[in-house]
Amino acid sequence: MVSIRLENLHKDFGGSVVAVDNLSLTFDEGSTTCLLGPSGCGKTTLMRMIAGLETQTSGRIFFDDLDVTKLKTRKRDLGMVFQYPVVYQGTTIRQNIGIPLRRENMTTAEKNERVDEILDLLGLSDVANTDVGNLDYATKQKVAVARAISRRPPIVLFDEPITNVDLTAKLQLKLVLKELFTKLKQTVLYVTHDQTEAMTLADKIALMRDGRVEQLASPRELYTNSQSVFAGRFLGNPGMNFLGKNDSSEIIAQLLGNRYTEQVSSVGFRPEDVVVSADQTPGAVPAEIEHVAIVTGGQHLVTLKSGVRIVKAKLPWHVPFTKTDGEHVWWSVPETKVRAFDSAEQLVPSGAVAVGS
Ligand code: ATP
Repeated sequence: MVSIRLENLHKDFGGSVVAVDNLSLTFDEGSTTCLLGPSGCGKTTLMRMIAGLETQTSGRIFFDDLDVTKLKTRKRDLGMVFQYPVVYQGTTIRQNIGIPLRRENMTTAEKNERVDEILDLLGLSDVANTDVGNLDYATKQKVAVARAISRRPPIVLFDEPITNVDLTAKLQLKLVLKELFTKLKQTVLYVTHDQTEAMTLADKIALMRDGRVEQLASPRELYTNSQSVFAGRFLGNPGMNFLGKNDSSEIIAQLLGNRYTEQVSSVGFRPEDVVVSADQTPGAVPAEIEHVAIVTGGQHLVTLKSGVRIVKAKLPWHVPFTKTDGEHVWWSVPETKVRAFDSAEQLVPSGAVAVGS
């Protein structure tokens, strides 16, 4: 197991296109980190530099204490899986998995044992002797994964490996990959723009924006303790509700209580933390129901309108909700669930804004 450490890693493609912006951070050994972010934020460029497929403009890359910045890809001892499955045509699944082992210092028996083990891990034992030309897309990708890990490289890089797979196969592949990551404990970097995939697979998510890592944290931490407006908005379906000081200062003051200071520019709260009631409760805000929908998981997603402000509430499926469009209700959010952000759209730490601090 090895860690991946980036030291001021930077890549620009000339002019103003900065793909990776002076990154310094460490991906822990034996952990799975998903690089998550919108299109163009630099995920693939970062991964390609770690793989040695792209030359950095400046900065250094270390695998543990080894400086690999100038090493060619084949000297970096990596496995790689791409968006499109790479398999060797005209061979069977078993042969495909065995190819990377050809030059390994192992006996034939050891190689066979390794291939059997990988076949088993990926649930491919029953089809081991099938020609890869006869496989569906998802199984081909499984073979590509199997080949990437058969040598047991300490680092494996995945670039959107299940983006093109159909939904049913996607769920199955996610389970297989999760099991694989847990069992093999390789250091895995996994590029995706799909937050559900990242939430399912990652020990940590590196949320990227404009070539920088906005937040590196466990999926739960990233969701419940979003450190910026961007993180709050990007994660969740729908993302956090935000109210700005310009048009909602009274509501913000109400929601934050004594945490409201000059430093606060907006507040955010998750739709599932919004409490909707038919009657007025202390501190609640009046609203008209604009729309009610049932979403995945059976929850009610209620769109509320308070003046010009729109607030989304996601209500638990087991709590009956009979109100419909046009009816008047009250909404509130427990104070501990309300996040305060400054004018740079960064979280204002609770302690820092407490009155009298
Ligand atoms: P996507 O999810 O769409 O693949 P990404 O997050 O992986 O996006 P990158 O592909 O790394 O982002 O691109 C980061 C930035 O660098 C983008 O602005 C992209 O247009 C630019 N870029 C990437 N490769 C090149 C290149 N070879 N030449 C010029 N610009 C590039």
